[in-house]
Amino acid sequence: MRTDTPATIYRQDYLPPSYLVDTVELGFDLDPARTIVASRLTMRRNPDSAERAIVLCGENLELVALRMNGKTLGKREYAIDDKTLRIPNAPERATLEIETLTAPRQNTTLNGLYVSNGNFFTQCEAEGFRHITYFPDRPDVMAKFTVMLRADKQRYPVLLSNGNLIEEGDLGDGRHFAKWEDPFKKPSYLFALVAARLECQEETFALADGREALLQVWVEEGNLDKTNYAMQSLKNSIRWDEQRYGLELDLDRFMIVAVGDFNMGAMENKGLNIFNTKYVLANPRVATDTDYAGIEAVVGHEYFHNWTGNRVTCRDWFQLSLKEGLTVFRDQEFSADMIGTDSGRAVSRIEQVRTLRQAQFPEDAGPMAHPVRPDSFVEINNFYTVTVYEKGAEVVRMIQTLVGREGFRKGMDLYFARHDGQAVECDDFRRAMADANGRDLAQFELWYSQAGTPVVRADTSYDAEAKTYTLTLSQSCPPTPGQQSKAPFHIPFAVGLLGANGRDLPLTIDGVAHGTGAVLELLEARQRFVFTDVAEAPTPSLLRDFSAPVILEYDYSDAELLHLFSHDSDPVNRWEAGQRLAMARLLKLTAAVAAGAKLELDETFINALRKMLSDASLDAAFREQALLLPSESMIADQLETVNPQAIHLARQFMRRTIGTELRADLFAQYDANQTPGPYSPDAGSAGRRGLKNLALAYLAAAPSPANNALAKMQFDTAGNMTDRVAALGALIHAEAEYASDALARFYDDFEHEALVVDKWFSMQAAAPGTDVAAVRELMLHPAFNIKNPNRVRSLVFAFCAGNPAQFHAADGSGYAFWAEQVGALDALNPQVASRLARSMDRWRRYAPALQLPMKKALQQVAKGKKLSNDVREVVGKALTN
Ligand code: ZN
Repeated sequence: MRTDTPATIYRQDYLPPSYLVDTVELGFDLDPARTIVASRLTMRRNPDSAERAIVLCGENLELVALRMNGKTLGKREYAIDDKTLRIPNAPERATLEIETLTAPRQNTTLNGLYVSNGNFFTQCEAEGFRHITYFPDRPDVMAKFTVMLRADKQRYPVLLSNGNLIEEGDLGDGRHFAKWEDPFKKPSYLFALVAARLECQEETFALADGREALLQVWVEEGNLDKTNYAMQSLKNSIRWDEQRYGLELDLDRFMIVAVGDFNMGAMENKGLNIFNTKYVLANPRVATDTDYAGIEAVVGHEYFHNWTGNRVTCRDWFQLSLKEGLTVFRDQEFSADMIGTDSGRAVSRIEQVRTLRQAQFPEDAGPMAHPVRPDSFVEINNFYTVTVYEKGAEVVRMIQTLVGREGFRKGMDLYFARHDGQAVECDDFRRAMADANGRDLAQFELWYSQAGTPVVRADTSYDAEAKTYTLTLSQSCPPTPGQQSKAPFHIPFAVGLLGANGRDLPLTIDGVAHGTGAVLELLEARQRFVFTDVAEAPTPSLLRDFSAPVILEYDYSDAELLHLFSHDSDPVNRWEAGQRLAMARLLKLTAAVAAGAKLELDETFINALRKMLSDASLDAAFREQALLLPSESMIADQLETVNPQAIHLARQFMRRTIGTELRADLFAQYDANQTPGPYSPDAGSAGRRGLKNLALAYLAAAPSPANNALAKMQFDTAGNMTDRVAALGALIHAEAEYASDALARFYDDFEHEALVVDKWFSMQAAAPGTDVAAVRELMLHPAFNIKNPNRVRSLVFAFCAGNPAQFHAADGSGYAFWAEQVGALDALNPQVASRLARSMDRWRRYAPALQLPMKKALQQVAKGKKLSNDVREVVGKALTN
């Protein structure tokens, strides 16, 4: 039964499972219309539980048979509703045999067992397994799985599951079977099967201890020319985890399978990772530098989960960040190490900061704000968030900053020594780190329990006589839903002081020398740090390397920022100084647009950009970052009242002015950063392409026949997808005459490459000239398919979340469109619908004329009779918080 107010689940209410499961034997008779699942569970009472009943989860299942210890259970011996099967008064030990029926072809949710392009796949995290069979579907129940798959041999020649293949053969009747055994205990959310017509790239790979592992990347026919990079990334991941953490692959076989219909990026099922095609398929013709980087990061992420997530898993879903925050941190470090240079490491750090500001800070300031370890949820799928993932990774990174790299490794070793094979809590990770290093991380716990982005205010004063420099730091954190007041956080705060010559000054605090960089520990609401022997009035470089996920307030003068932008030895703060210079001007311009005043940009700023653009002593990738402006949503975040059109015009004005004023320099850098020869996705080449294509984008922001001709030339001659999409984007944004021809040609050339068609849709959806009517038109295109999440993200999400000036059209048409699409998607796939629903999170911050229609649209969605819990929770919180 569905009720209007779905149940909230609280972390405090955790109870251990009543029964433990030792072994699971699963038998699948796979048929898209009607799949029979037979399960045999050996269970025993949990000594840690007072509950006497066996409690199994199950949804949308047809129960065919139920036996306990060999005897069929009568209707009065168990209770069943739409979510649970209960067997009261069960014996100490029970062998359950359960047969259920499901209809995978009808399953449009892509959760549980489903069909994609005629093939079978599963997705069980977080609570999908209960859509496959009755089971104690919670991560603290870990069992050994054996899986028998039976299916038509012609249509499903490949039958995969977790662990090792122990038997396969023919069944005679046109069907065949495969039996898989996973030697490791695992929670049900890590179960997976694939039954499909697929091909694989495979090789054996020598592990550190001398064992050989079979590595496979499985894809649909015709895609074997796009698996090399994923395979290479997998091998790099295995090596990296051996070398950096001493963690080895624990299976003889490791498989990656790509599927076109997938709700998220990828899934770390034990030994059988299932991936969105977006994070597997790449060759220079179809994938961009960004795509390559995404593949490396996600392949790494899922592989690293094998230890941080699978071998040590979560006690309950409130602990999600235990595995996700830690594993994001690990994949970030992996990607940075793969670049290998200090400058490359800094660029990847800058990209992380950008993601936090673009997505996590707004979440932390909105109606869905929650701690890294949430206290409650209605639908766990709504909590796979940038807070749990990216802020969670920042929290882990701060621990490393506090205990040092070696100390962190000691903490990891202790964590595995203590908890291998267990389902544990975030606190257990923190305790291992504290114990291994003899550190008190008690106050640090607040990073897990308090939501909201802390604000650190810095004030400084220099005493020329005493040669002391005093830095006063005060912290506060705004209220978030359910948390009115916050206690002070334990904040690692990295600083340096620059002299007038741009060099770092030596730091001495309380008589202790700190070289040229110190990590201060801010523990109180307000704390003073006094630097002694400071020979001259310095320029402070604060929060170096973004040492904590906070908002830093400091009244920098333009002169100080320009000094830091030219000289800071910390590249992240060098970049940050440029962002501050740009943001101050963007805010002024936004106000000027709204007031109808004249728009102007100062020479000093332009010249600082010019110098940065042409400074050949800096990597191209860094210069690209330094020249990228804060996004429209970052600007919106700085404003009390958001006017999306004014922000857009202000930013466009700045881009156009840069394109005009720096024209000659942009052309020069365009030429200087060519990458002749065959395409390579390495960071150096990608950085040059990035800077060159940013130059092209700025030139396109100030269209002229010559600028447009350059874009056309690049489009016509591009030898790789990075350059092709950059040129197409430039043509579209310049509204060049050639743009529509180019779009048509692009589609013709790539209509059979789904991931490229996604790009074709998303470039149009995010273009400044695309209004709601144009998006509706695109939805009628034969290639649009509302059941495919990638396609929906490329068009509907790209518009609602990526084209603010059009989405927030004054007539409210964008909001009506949003409400319609959330409703339509919810009937098919609640997880995807609920993500789209979140694009209205920040409605209260818009000008009153927009707020009202936004609220109406939210209310209209909330009224929906058959609304999923997923969407209900999101729109409910948007309306009440
Ligand atoms: Zn993950």
